[in-house]
Amino acid sequence: MKTLEVRLPGKEYRIEIGSGILETAGETVRSVARGKKAAVITDSNVDSIYGGRVRKSLKEAGFDCFTVVVSPGEGSKSMEVYSEVCEKLLDGGLTRKDIIVALGGGVVGDLAGFAAATVLRGVDFVQIPTTLLSQVDSSVGGKVAVNLNAGKNLAGAFHQPKAVVIDTDCLDTLPDRVFSDGMAEVIKYGAIEDADLFRRLSALGGRTGIMSEIEDVVYTCVDIKRRIVEGDEKDEGGRMVLNFGHTLGHAYEKSGGYSRYTHGEAVAAGMVKIAKIGEEIGITRKGCSDEIRDLIRTYGLPDSIEIGLEEYSQAVGIDKKAEGREINLIFIEDIGKAVIRKMDTLRLIGLIRGVEA
Ligand code: NAD
Ligand code: ZN
Repeated sequence: MKTLEVRLPGKEYRIEIGSGILETAGETVRSVARGKKAAVITDSNVDSIYGGRVRKSLKEAGFDCFTVVVSPGEGSKSMEVYSEVCEKLLDGGLTRKDIIVALGGGVVGDLAGFAAATVLRGVDFVQIPTTLLSQVDSSVGGKVAVNLNAGKNLAGAFHQPKAVVIDTDCLDTLPDRVFSDGMAEVIKYGAIEDADLFRRLSALGGRTGIMSEIEDVVYTCVDIKRRIVEGDEKDEGGRMVLNFGHTLGHAYEKSGGYSRYTHGEAVAAGMVKIAKIGEEIGITRKGCSDEIRDLIRTYGLPDSIEIGLEEYSQAVGIDKKAEGREINLIFIEDIGKAVIRKMDTLRLIGLIRGVEA
């Protein structure tokens, strides 16, 4: 098992990464808990595979535990499900001293984390992420939220977990598409911060290869996220580099009605496109977009998604009067070296037209 410490003023926490560590998750929760009760929040898929193991471990560690199960999928990140979950937590007898255990992917982590941030004016929680995306990204950093009709993640909080338990064995049961989805964020870390990681991913050649070194790869990604979060807990500056590929990615997600493409598929195509634009305007070393494209293909992700200029314009907020505005865009100068540049949205659309011509 490998461990990392997240150091935020007054909110230090430990991240454990290893194979088979679900079995001892109870002890980890015990080491940070103040009360006797643990409420596990999970979705029905994860509950059926891992729920029993986690409950057993919590009971062995002396917890009186109960479980709140939600339906799998983004639909559970809603105000309705959030309020049902809070009611069930109180029905189960949760008090302010007790602890919530978020067991599942990013949906469960965000929902359970937001419930933890708000129920009884805030209780402690532990993240046990079970998807690749949640292990390398969403479980670390304390952003928790549910969606509103007005948009994704619009009701939320910053609420850091007390510990994060990452059992990489959980990845064995992920469907290929969910695994690839998380790989887009892994590739992103390489592209923005770590050229060695990028080349290693390329050498590992796909899901089978990467699983032979998964503990180390997840550790490397979480360490990058930890460093960036420590520098900018509330997302006011440096954390922005994590948005590499995401501005155009959001346009693809939106055009697909948030269901046709996964987040990772959209981000993958977004990274290739923004790298091409960067090459075009002389920020990015020529050849980077091809290298990203090749790696993306290796992990079963799409290297481009076709949408109209109108859809790009809408996604970056260009209104009917066609007035542009300055946005922060993340480019790379080379693999492993991200930079933040301000750009007018109208210029961005012009450049997209240019690289597509
Ligand atoms: P998810 O939680 O919906 O999980 C994907 C699917 O995999 C679900 O059907 C789930 O039941 C299933 N699953 C989970 N673990 C499994 C396992 N070990 N074996 C088999 N099946 C398993 O999706 P996700 O991609 O993990 O998370 C997406 C969410 O994360 C989005 O809502 C996004 O907004 C959020 N997110 C949050 C942050 C943050 O910083 N808070 C960052 C990135 C993404
Ligand atoms: Zn992302």
